[in-house]
Amino acid sequence: MTDIPLDSIPNHSPLNPVKLSLDENIQFRCHKDIACFNECCKRIDITLTPYDILRLKTKLGLSSAEFLGQYTLPYEMDSHSMPGVKIKTADDNPACPFLSETGCSVYEDRPTVCRYYALGLMSMRKENSAIDEDTYFLIHEDHCLGHQESRTVTVADYRKEQGVEEYDQINRDWRQIILKKRSAGPTIGKPSQRSFQFFFLCSYNLDGLRDFVLSDGFSEVYDVESAILDILKTDDVMLLSFGFKLLKQVLFGENTIPLQADAMQKRVERRREDLNVDPEDPNKNYDGPEMI
Ligand code: SF4
Ligand code: SF4
Repeated sequence: MTDIPLDSIPNHSPLNPVKLSLDENIQFRCHKDIACFNECCKRIDITLTPYDILRLKTKLGLSSAEFLGQYTLPYEMDSHSMPGVKIKTADDNPACPFLSETGCSVYEDRPTVCRYYALGLMSMRKENSAIDEDTYFLIHEDHCLGHQESRTVTVADYRKEQGVEEYDQINRDWRQIILKKRSAGPTIGKPSQRSFQFFFLCSYNLDGLRDFVLSDGFSEVYDVESAILDILKTDDVMLLSFGFKLLKQVLFGENTIPLQADAMQKRVERRREDLNVDPEDPNKNYDGPEMI
């Protein structure tokens, strides 16, 4: 099972390079009695979305850090070095760690890529456009016999059947952030290491994000109602969406979360304290306010 690069289809790809729309039919069926059952999970290359990680870590009863450490590997999503994570396999075995003798051990919470298969999703944004376009492709790998089954189904119904809609809905803002970052190109400039770390925190490390959002430092800068902070203490999906808003504010300067009136002054004071600034020369060592 192979993930689909978001912005290119390599020549050797098993993708059938025919664009499919939601109302077009594919001929495909996967079921437990098929001869190739589990074959697709024995050699994987699966990237994870934020909501995939939320679902899997909850299913496994792990913290974000535990899940990321035990089951994932970091990688660069594109030539812009946006940080991504993939499911980690053993050095001597490319099979998915969640594959059991009876099939997928996390089936109800399986990642987006597994749900889509044998479809691939590509999200694109044309130059000078603010609208993202989703396009679907068929992936035709030799070991997969699902294409020989007689059932036809529309792309829309297949997405529904596989529970993909919920995943795409929750990840939508995140995909938009990636596409916007790519399409912005040199106008926004090369992202800093710090912004990549923040992207990683908001995208993949939900528990770390919660600690950050509930910290005193956060409340010093952002003016968020206490009722909303209370929700973010326990609601993972809301926290994920809040993290995407934060990313839009930090990466693109969008006014998605209100700032405290005196936020900048407090940041300056705190930064000066952290740097042990000389009161005789207050600007010594001070390299300007931070965005977060
Ligand atoms: S998560 Fe489940 S469906 Fe996806 S590759 Fe692993 S075992 Fe297969
Ligand atoms: S039909 Fe394809 S997707 Fe289903 S088990 Fe076989 S190889 Fe995997």
